[in-house]
Amino acid sequence: MKITDVEAIYLRLPEIQQRTDSSQDALLVKVSTDAGITGWGEVDGCPAVARAVIEAGYSHTQVNGLRAILLGEDPLATARLWNKMYASTLYYGRSGAAIQAMAGVDIALWDIKGKALGKPVVELLGGALRDRMRVYSSNMFQFSVEDTVARARQAIDTGHTGVKFGWEPFGRDEAMDLRYVEAIRRAIGDDNDFMLDVGLAWDAKTTIRRARLFEPYRLFWIEEPLHPDDYAGYGKVSRSCLQHIAAGEQECTVVGFERLIDEGGIDIVQIDLTRCGFTQAMRIAAYAQRRGRKVCNHNFTTDINTAASLHFLCAIENALVMEYCVEPSEISQRLAKQPVTIRDGYAHLPEGPGLGVEPNDEVIAKYLVR
Ligand code: MG
Repeated sequence: MKITDVEAIYLRLPEIQQRTDSSQDALLVKVSTDAGITGWGEVDGCPAVARAVIEAGYSHTQVNGLRAILLGEDPLATARLWNKMYASTLYYGRSGAAIQAMAGVDIALWDIKGKALGKPVVELLGGALRDRMRVYSSNMFQFSVEDTVARARQAIDTGHTGVKFGWEPFGRDEAMDLRYVEAIRRAIGDDNDFMLDVGLAWDAKTTIRRARLFEPYRLFWIEEPLHPDDYAGYGKVSRSCLQHIAAGEQECTVVGFERLIDEGGIDIVQIDLTRCGFTQAMRIAAYAQRRGRKVCNHNFTTDINTAASLHFLCAIENALVMEYCVEPSEISQRLAKQPVTIRDGYAHLPEGPGLGVEPNDEVIAKYLVR
């Protein structure tokens, strides 16, 4: 079997809000083969840049586009092709946009491998340790406490046992932050988990102070309080408070995660499959396990990410809980022909070969950016 095409498909809502909400657009990757098998992947990065990384032509041995690198290759050779893409993008790659684009391709290659062998991706990753993952409802903070509380209640009413709120307007004012945290805990009751995503708003000492202030509200974790470059700050926080700290969505390399774990001392390692790919995610999860850390996914995009996250988390021993984005974007909510089943607070592994989800042509046609 040979790769015959690698396409980047850019979807975007007609109205984009000025928010840290990546469910508003999507970059799908479609890899075609001469056997008629098609694989799908996704990139949660800058869609236009990821598309350029895929479509770029040959410049020299260390500067090439992913499509040009992959044409004619055997799609089953996932690790070899990861290394080939890495080596052939070295001058402009190594981290960030190029690696994220490679992640989208990597997911599509694993989808092809599963379809070719008639097995779900989880089986190729070593076999399913479980067939479902507990999810938490992942939400943006709303711009009033009342609207945020309504979201929290809706999460519990729809069967979720964990709820996360993140990003603006949270993190800018201590009294306001306390109002949000108190109100959410009251709304979800004592028996459900409450994850707080600070969205990079604090420095290390503010984080330590807030973690103490919020102790009565029993946060499941505090996520990304600091700028992702501040590994030393994460280390200071981890040594100074008992609160579990989660981070990782800004990282897309094994090296970056090793630094966050060892220098930053974080407790919960959040891996976005659409920024790392299966090939790297399995290496990062194994490293995290050796260091005694739990692993979660990061997912604020479509059901391709949801399905990829689910196969990954069901294949690793140190999986903790799964992020499930509930933002109302039609790209996020309606892309899959058969969405991943979320029932009673769990995501259930799709049964078909590969990822087990296929995009809906109508949704692609409606939101396609040409
Ligand atoms: Mg986050």
